[in-house]
Amino acid sequence: TLEAGVVAVQGDVEEHADAIERAASAHGREVTVHEIRESGIVPDCDLLAMPGGESTTISRLIHGEGIATEIQEHVTAGKPLLATCAGLIVASSDAGDDRVDELDLLDVTVERNAFGRQKDSFEAPLEVDGLEEPYPAVFIRAPAIDAVGDADVLASWDGRPVAVRDGPVVGTSFHPELTPDSRIHDLAFFANEAASVPALENPQ
Ligand code: GLN
Repeated sequence: TLEAGVVAVQGDVEEHADAIERAASAHGREVTVHEIRESGIVPDCDLLAMPGGESTTISRLIHGEGIATEIQEHVTAGKPLLATCAGLIVASSDAGDDRVDELDLLDVTVERNAFGRQKDSFEAPLEVDGLEEPYPAVFIRAPAIDAVGDADVLASWDGRPVAVRDGPVVGTSFHPELTPDSRIHDLAFFANEAASVPALENPQ
């Protein structure tokens, strides 16, 4: 059984847990999902998701609880992390906001709320590197990725990158947990050559 963690100090947690379960089951894998609100759980996790929500709040809480360093160690060990929307902002190397203490896990500069305020939320059919059919991407007060350093752009919208991969880390401006389509979770956790989860012990 794989151990998965969803950073749950704030933001949309349930939906990520469901998407992780769907992606795992598509690979014939069982998974236990842990909600992470305190330190000591991340070190046992094979894969991690950091959800959307409010990036300054998430940043403050994960640093305060000692979870931030554990997430950095998880990535250094080559284990996969999917960081979405506010999670992407926190995982970036530059969030352009003093209230966010970036984890520097994705070599990108982001601009918060770059696609407008809540009323400007939208869904877009996104061409994503590695996916055959467009992905229905839900954007909610989404950040844009302005500068990309040592990372691969997986998708762009309106001429701006909205999905990137930096080794074991995949970051998206949009919310892949809010649609029944779990292909982005699949991409991040099971189809990323730069990241590994433990193999099945007794493959059938
Ligand atoms: N606007 C939020 C922020 O900057 C992110 C929005 C989201 O995660 N849906 O923190």
